[in-house]
Amino acid sequence: MSSIVKYSIVVPVYNEEEVIHETYRRLTEVMHSTKEAYELLFVNDGSRDRTAEMIKEYSEQDPAVVLLDFARNFGHQIAITAGMDYARGEAVVVIDADLQDPPELILEMIEKWKQGFDVVYAKRTKRKGETYFKKQTAAMFYRFLRAMTDIDIPLDTGDFRLLDRKVCNQMNSIQEKNRFVRGLVSWVGFKQIAVEYERDERLAGESKYPLKKMLKLSMDGITSFSYKPLKLASYAGVTLSGIGFIYLLVVLYLKLFTDSTITGWSSLIVIQLFFSGIILIILGMIGEYIGRIYDETKNRPLYIVREKYQLEPRKEVSLR
Ligand code: UDP
Ligand code: MG
Repeated sequence: MSSIVKYSIVVPVYNEEEVIHETYRRLTEVMHSTKEAYELLFVNDGSRDRTAEMIKEYSEQDPAVVLLDFARNFGHQIAITAGMDYARGEAVVVIDADLQDPPELILEMIEKWKQGFDVVYAKRTKRKGETYFKKQTAAMFYRFLRAMTDIDIPLDTGDFRLLDRKVCNQMNSIQEKNRFVRGLVSWVGFKQIAVEYERDERLAGESKYPLKKMLKLSMDGITSFSYKPLKLASYAGVTLSGIGFIYLLVVLYLKLFTDSTITGWSSLIVIQLFFSGIILIILGMIGEYIGRIYDETKNRPLYIVREKYQLEPRKEVSLR
């Protein structure tokens, strides 16, 4: 079976009952037009609605549909990772379930892949129907991340992309726990190219990425690819003690050579709060790294599978 599948489409789903039917329909239409064998690998990330049952229903009619069902919600990045672990195709495409990423673009990706590119990533030129806050913070994050790291992580690019089998195998060998998948794909290397698209609105339902998950994702991105926040403590320390020393000279001068003295406890409080704040922020930064080191040492599996529906893993791939 494994050698017959040419394309694997990995779709992470979390409470997507409102959109899943349309997603299935459009993906099928697009993949059908390739006239080559494909599988639609849905990874159910602990949905509490009917998403999993609906996928099983499609699977009964359509042998191309397979389902990996998680025991609970492990998060989008882990769901994608599991999809890559189980995908059997020669090319693996990761796409969101909410049709913000147009399935039709997959054909363009396949074309580039056939020209010899190993990674084809979809770059957003516009984002429709998302809040001003989300667009601004996302744009800032991608630029900040780029400034922080030495790896060439493309701007405004999510996880919608095509990976060649050899890239996918390399991704499977990465054991990291707090994964920032799009960064890891850049880190792996190979021949990469962008295709551009305008990101549509979510078809229905709400974003499954609340602010908390977005913050976690951006911290994972920064901590997995940069040590710079750790150096912040030394830079801040040098600068602040420099300022403190100059201020000491000013105070001494005023005391020794003039009649005026500096009074008031309010300035003391302000300075105290300001510096405690900085120290706590830096401690928190260090904590982010230590927490991640702890996650690595525990060596737990990345995800727990409740059920594999119509799905057998590739023989040559050793699963986590
Ligand atoms: N998703 C997931 N697990 C989660 C959160 C999201 O598998 O914990 C899936 C979700 O079903 C969708 C994709 O990840 O297919 C992207 O999520 P969403 O569209 O809500 O994110 P946004 O586009 O708002 O950033
Ligand atoms: Mg979305």
